[in-house]
Parts: sequence; C-alpha cells; structure tokens
Amino acid sequence: MAERETAAGELGLVQAFVNTVDLMPGKEELTDPNTLQAWLVANGLMDTGQPVDESDLKHALAVREAMRGVIGGNTGLKVYPVDIATLNEAAVASRLRMRFGRGGKPRLEPEAAGAVGALGRLVATLYSAMQAPDWERLKLCSSDPCRWAFYDRSRNHSSRWCTMASCGNREKARRFRHKHK
Ligand SMILES: [Zn+2]
Repeated sequence: MAERETAAGELGLVQAFVNTVDLMPGKEELTDPNTLQAWLVANGLMDTGQPVDESDLKHALAVREAMRGVIGGNTGLKVYPVDIATLNEAAVASRLRMRFGRGGKPRLEPEAAGAVGALGRLVATLYSAMQAPDWERLKLCSSDPCRWAFYDRSRNHSSRWCTMASCGNREKARRFRHKHK
C-alpha cells in the first residue's frame, strides 16, 4: 500500500524488514531461503554467494517477529520476554562487537558470516535506530490482524493505524458495531 508512511535510514531498514510480511492479506515476502538471501543482499546486509538454508529462514522470521514485538512497545503494548530473548540470542549468535568505523564513529558489527551475521547486522541496526529521537514514531497498527509497522508523522504522535482509509475505518466500524449490539 503506497500510502503507508515509511521511515528513512536505519529506522526505515528495521521497518522494511518487519513489513516483509503483510499479515492482513497474509502476504509473505520471505517464503523460502532464496527470497531471504535476495532480501538480505539487496539491503546490503550480506554479500552475494553466501548460503542461506531453512534454519536461517526460521531464525530470520523469529527475529522479525521479535522486532515487531519490541516496536509494539512504542504503541503501548507489552514487550514479551520471549521477544527480548530472541533478539539477545541473535546478537550472541552473530557475535556482535563494537568497532570504530573509518570516521571514528563506533558501531556494532557481527563477526559471524552468512545469514546469522546479516541478522546480527539487523539487530545492530535496531539498536542504533532505538538511540535516535524518532524511534518512538515507529509503531504497530492498532488493528489487531494488521500489526503493520508504520511511521507516525503526526505532530503529536497520535496515529493509531497504518492507514485511516483501510485499518482505521474498519476498526471504527467494528467498535461501533460492538458498542451498539
Ligand atoms: Zn493496519
């Protein structure tokens, strides 16, 4: 959906990863190891020619949903320990280390190669995005079946749905029906 708001930079990358599945029509982008590999390479997280297997795919989907869970914290949802554990495990598995870059700016980089390293790079990107002041603008759509990660551009950070036209109106109609039963 073109009208859904997207973030830029590191926040945008986290958002794009979480939104590789569209839960509402149930459209999955990462359907097999090949599509995961292509996505990781296209987003500069991994070099071409590194193998990706079924266990990497399983790991990636777990990390993705854990990230969705953490973003839910910006929407006032409870962040579950299982999601925190998944992200911590991904960080450990990729052996993230602090490194000073060329310009002298420190960043987290994985020592592990392949998809495990690429997912560590995504966890590092999440870490970095969380330090930025606009982190709290990345939210989950309040429509329960949707849970799309959207960027809240409203002045007072009050947006609740990925789009008013679809999720907003559907949820309002549902609540209205519920109230007038
Ligand atoms: Zn939505």
